[in-house]
Amino acid sequence: MARPQARVARPMPRGGRRYIYAFGGGRKDGRAEMKDLLGGKGANLAEMARLGFPVPPGFTISTEVCTYYYAHGRRYPPVLRARVGEALARIEKALGRRFGDPDNPLLVSVRSGARASMPGMMDTILNLGLNDRTVAGLIRTSGNPRFAYDSYRRFVQMYGDVVLGLKPESKDEEDPFEVALEEKKRARGVKSDTDLDTEALRELVGEFKALVKMRKGVAFPEDPHEQLWGAIGAVFGSWMNERAIVYRKLNAIPESWGTAVNVQAMVFGNRGEDSGTGVAFTRDPATGENVFYGELLMNAQGEDVVAGTRTPLSLAELKQKNPGAYAELVKIRGILERRYRDMMDIEFTIEQRKLWMLQCRVGQRNGIAAVRIACEMVAEKLIKPDEAIKRVTPEYLNQLLRPIFDPAEKKTAIREGRLLTKGLNAGPGAATGRIVFNADDAETWAKRGETVILVRIETSPEDIHGMQAAEGILTARGGTTSHAALVGRQMGKVCVVGCDALQIDYRERVLRLAERQDVLKEGDDVSIDGFTGEVFVGKIETIPSEVVQVLVEKTLEPVDAPTYQRYARFMKWVDGARRLRVRANADQPDQCANALAFGAEGVGLCRTEHMFFGEGKIEPMRETILAATPEERRAALAKLLPLQRADFAGIFRVMNGRPVTIRTLDPPLHEFLPHEEAGQREVAAALRVPFERVRERVAALHEFNPMLGFRGCRLGIIYPEITEMQARAIFEAAAEVRQAGVAVEPEVMIPLVGHVKELALQAEVVRRAAEEVMREKGVRFRYLVGTMIEIPRGALTADEIANVAEFFSFGTNDLTQTTLGVSRDDAGRFLVPYVERFEIYEKDPFESIDRAGVGALMRLATERGRARRARLKLGICGEHGGDPASVRFCHEIGLDYVSCSPFRVPIARLAAARAALGA
Ligand code: ADP
Ligand code: MG
Ligand code: MG
Repeated sequence: MARPQARVARPMPRGGRRYIYAFGGGRKDGRAEMKDLLGGKGANLAEMARLGFPVPPGFTISTEVCTYYYAHGRRYPPVLRARVGEALARIEKALGRRFGDPDNPLLVSVRSGARASMPGMMDTILNLGLNDRTVAGLIRTSGNPRFAYDSYRRFVQMYGDVVLGLKPESKDEEDPFEVALEEKKRARGVKSDTDLDTEALRELVGEFKALVKMRKGVAFPEDPHEQLWGAIGAVFGSWMNERAIVYRKLNAIPESWGTAVNVQAMVFGNRGEDSGTGVAFTRDPATGENVFYGELLMNAQGEDVVAGTRTPLSLAELKQKNPGAYAELVKIRGILERRYRDMMDIEFTIEQRKLWMLQCRVGQRNGIAAVRIACEMVAEKLIKPDEAIKRVTPEYLNQLLRPIFDPAEKKTAIREGRLLTKGLNAGPGAATGRIVFNADDAETWAKRGETVILVRIETSPEDIHGMQAAEGILTARGGTTSHAALVGRQMGKVCVVGCDALQIDYRERVLRLAERQDVLKEGDDVSIDGFTGEVFVGKIETIPSEVVQVLVEKTLEPVDAPTYQRYARFMKWVDGARRLRVRANADQPDQCANALAFGAEGVGLCRTEHMFFGEGKIEPMRETILAATPEERRAALAKLLPLQRADFAGIFRVMNGRPVTIRTLDPPLHEFLPHEEAGQREVAAALRVPFERVRERVAALHEFNPMLGFRGCRLGIIYPEITEMQARAIFEAAAEVRQAGVAVEPEVMIPLVGHVKELALQAEVVRRAAEEVMREKGVRFRYLVGTMIEIPRGALTADEIANVAEFFSFGTNDLTQTTLGVSRDDAGRFLVPYVERFEIYEKDPFESIDRAGVGALMRLATERGRARRARLKLGICGEHGGDPASVRFCHEIGLDYVSCSPFRVPIARLAAARAALGA
C-alpha cells in the first residue's frame, strides 16, 4: 500500500555525497532497485554480487557524477579522484594485484551504463592498465605471452577507437585498425585472429600506436591512471554525443538522467582453450520456451561471440566440456528468474575453467515469446496475472495475431537482392501474392483462387471490394492514416503505403522503380511485410498466426494450438482487469463475426454508406441522388429499403443482442457518382436517364470543401426521406430479428451534429419511424437515438445536445480535422515534418488523440453531457479507438467504451486493461 513519502533525506556520508558504489570481492553497496543512481548495468552487477554470484570486483561511479559533470562545465566533484583511488585500492586488495604494477598488474574494464540500455553511448574498453611494462608482468603471472599480447592488442585498439577517436572518417573508409589487422594476417598467411602468434600481436601493438600518433597526433597514453581517467571522461562525454542525443529524443529519455561508469577487474576468456566468453537467455527469446539458451566462444574475449566470426559452442557442449561451470550457470539461471521474475539475458566469462558473471538484464523478446513467458510465469507463480498484463505491450500482442514471413525465407530473399523498396508499415503482417492494379481484377482473380496484392497509387471507397479480395494492399501514396491504411486495418489486411519509389502505370499495368531496372507486370509475384514496410519481388512463404487460424479461419482446433491457448488464457485476465468495454467498427455480418471472435462486445460504428457499394445497391443509391422530384426519390429509396434491411438483419443476428450503433448517411453525395464522362454515360444508360442529367448533377454536387460541405446530418435534414428510409430499414430489421427470438439493441447515430436542433430534427424522424414500425409489426424493442460528437460546436454545446441524445460517440477523425483545422487528406505534405522535424505535435494527431486540443473537447463534452443526462452512454468510434495511448485517454476521461476495427479489438482490450492497471 502507498505510504506517505518519508521526508527524510538519505544520510550524507561524511565528506559529502557518496559518488561510488562497490560490488564484488565481498562488497555490495548497491542493488537492482538502484538503477536511477547506478544505471542498469551497475545496479544489476551489485545485485548479482548480493546474490552471491562470482562477480569480478569493481565499482560504479553514480549518475549523479554525470549530472555534476555537466552542471560544472565538465568537471568532476573534487573528492572524486580520492574516492576512485580508494575504490581501486579495494579491488587491488581483494585480488592481490596492483593497478599499474609492472610485476603483477591489475587490469580493468571501463563500461558505461545508463538507466535504460542506450545504444549510442560509449563502448566498453577492456584490458585497461596495460603498457609496455605491465604487459611484461601479465606475461610473467599468466605464463602466456600470446594471451598477454592479445589483450594488449585489443586494449590499444578499443582505447584508440573509443577514447582517442581513431575511427573511419567516411562511409567508404574501413576501420583503420581492422585494415592493419587484416594486413598482418595476410602477411603471416593466416585466416583467423587466433592464428596470429605472439610476435605478430606484439608488432600490431606498435603499429596501432603508430597509427594513433600519425592520424590523431597524440601519443598513446602509457600511464594507467591517465588511461583510466581518459576512459571515464569518454563515458561521461558520450552522454552528450550526437547519437546518444538522437536516441534519447526518440525514446523520450530525459537528458537529466545521466549515465554511470562501471570500473571492473578483468577476467580473461582469451586465456586459452579452457577459457571463453558467452551470452545466455534464461528462456528462449524467440519462442519463449522455458529452456536455457546460450552460446559460448572458447579462447575469446568480450563481444567476439556476437561478432560471429567463429562458430560458438552451445550450452549442451559446455556441459560436456566443463560440467562444473555449466552446473553453476544453471543454478544462477534459477536464482535470477526467481529474483527478477522475468526472462533474463546474461553475459559470462570462463577463465581457466572458472565461471564469472559480467552482466544480467531483462531480456529482449518478440511478441510470441512475451505472451508465452508471461503466461508460463503466472502458472509458475512467479508473477500475478496483473503483472503479465503489464509486461505484454499492445505491440507484442499485435505480433501474435499477424502472419509472418518465414524468417529463413526472408533472409534468402534479401541475400538474393529481392528487396525492392520500403514504404510505411500501415497494416502489420506478411502477404505474398500476384500483382493486380485495380479492384475489379482483384475480385475476379481472387474468385478464381488467386492470391493477389492490390497495387494502387492510392485507394478510394470504390476500391473496397478489391481490398477485401486482396491478401495485401500496396500503395505509392498516402500515410498511415490514408484510406488504404484505414480500411486495410479495419479488414485486417497486410498493408504497406506511401512507397514513393513505386511508379505505377495503370494503363500499361506495370510497376517501375525509380532507382532500379525492375519492371513488374500484372500477375508477377510480390511480397509485402506490413511489420517493416519492406516490399520484395517474388514469393516468400508465410506462417499464419495460430490465433487467427483458430478464431477466424476456424482451420485449427484449440487443442492443437498452444499459442492460441496462451492467448485465450491471457485475454481472460485482460478482460478481468479492464473497465472500458470494447466494440468494433463493422459494416457487414462477416466483419461482425470476426469482431465477435476477437472479443468485441458490440458494434460501435456501422457505416451504412459502405453497404451502398455492395452488389446491386449502388444503382438505387444513384437513382436516389439523380431523382428530379421527391416522388422519384421516394421510389428509388423504396428499392434501397429492403436491401438495407437485409444488411441490418444480418448484423443484428450475428451480434445476438449486443448493442449495434448504426450511423445514418454521412458522406457527400458526389462520392456515389463517377467523375469522368465514360462512367457518367454508363450510369445514364443503366438508369435510363439522360446523360446531361447525370453530368449536371455531378457538377451541382461539386464542392470546394466536401469535408465541410453537404454531408452528415445536413443530408438527412434537407432530404428527411433518406433518414426515414434508413431508420425504417433498421427498425424493420430489428423487429424481424426480435420476432425470430433474437434480442436486438439498435442505437441510431446521427453524424456531424453541431447544433441541438439538427439532432432534434433527425431524432424526430427516427423516433417516428421506430414507433410506426413497432406498431405495424406488433413487437417492442429498446433502441437509442444519439449523436456523433465530431465538430467543436457539438462538443461545446454537449449539455444542450444531451437533452436530446441518449448517447455520444466521439468521431475523432472528423473532430481532429475540425479542431485542428487540418484536412487529413491534404495533410500529407506537412504533417510528417510537423511531427518529426518541428515536433509541433508529439504524434500524428490522426493516429493518437491530441490530448491538449481534441482531448480537451472530449473531456468537456463528457462532463457537460453527463451533467445534463447522468446515464448518457459515451464511446469513441474514430480510428483512435484502436490506438493504445488513445484508449488510455478514453479510460481516463471515463468513457463507457471504445470501438475500433475488428482486428484491433484484442489490442484495445489489452490497452483498456493496461490503462486500468496504470501500466
Ligand atoms: P555492452 O553495454 O555493449 O553490453 P559491456 O560493458 O557489457 O558492453 O561489455 C562488452 C563486452 O565486454 C561484454 O561481452 C562483456 O561481458 C565484456 N566485459 C566487460 N567487462 C569485462 C570484464 N571486467 N572482464 C571480462 N569481460 C568483460
Ligand atoms: Mg554487455
Ligand atoms: Mg465523421
